[in-house]
Amino acid sequence: MNKNYIQVILTVLSITVVSASFTPSSFGLQHQVKQGETLTGIAQKYNVSMKSIAQANKFRNNDYDHLRIGQKLTIPGVTNPPNAGGSIEGTVYTIEQGDSLYSIARKFNVEDWKQLQKANAITNPKHLQPGQQILIPNGVAIGFLEPLKVPLVVTSQYGYRHHPITRRYRLHEGIDFRASNGTRVYASKTGVVTYAARKSGYGKIVIIQHDDDYTTSYGHLSRIRVSKGDIVRQGQVIGLSGNTGFSTGPHLHFEVRYKGRSENPARHLNLQ
Ligand SMILES: [Zn+2]
Repeated sequence: MNKNYIQVILTVLSITVVSASFTPSSFGLQHQVKQGETLTGIAQKYNVSMKSIAQANKFRNNDYDHLRIGQKLTIPGVTNPPNAGGSIEGTVYTIEQGDSLYSIARKFNVEDWKQLQKANAITNPKHLQPGQQILIPNGVAIGFLEPLKVPLVVTSQYGYRHHPITRRYRLHEGIDFRASNGTRVYASKTGVVTYAARKSGYGKIVIIQHDDDYTTSYGHLSRIRVSKGDIVRQGQVIGLSGNTGFSTGPHLHFEVRYKGRSENPARHLNLQ
């Protein structure tokens, strides 16, 4: 497959993943009203009812006939829009009590909350109102998700160390998380599986290539639940943790590499 094509697929998948992790009420996209458009026309274009658009945008009765050019409408329930010029696609999120742009960014794995501020033209991020809807636009940088849903306990950090079995002093190119045998392991980011088999000291390992020159690896698995060539979504189960390969006990060895060079996963998971 051509690389651009893969990137398109990955982008589409990341969006689906983001949408899928929230309740249906927060699905949707944003449509910017163009000259000559009516609510009826917009409703037909997206195949949703006028009533649901009116509710999502908290219309009063007289708003039905008074769309403004440039007005941004939330189109609820739409994740696969028609080729709608002028619309910004993304996920609509309804702000809850206690949310901040920072917490919302973390929830959606957006790397920088300022991207949300910019996309929604929010002048004062401290004045978010519960019930207010904001758009998480497609294409904002999606960060890495924790590969385990159990509380993360680091048993061995990234960095130089004496290998627990070989005793050789060398770079530990990943981070080890405590995980009892059979704990579900999740794809940290959407991507294509490039390796899913045994690999020397790693034991059973899954390697995922992401669309931004990053790869993530998940070693010492007891079970592998994906195959080479699979497209996996962020948060999808890819296997079960275990104790295969050179390992002194059940744990997950997790690596993040950029163009093949290992980086400290703790930095990408905001653990430090
Ligand atoms: Zn390790």
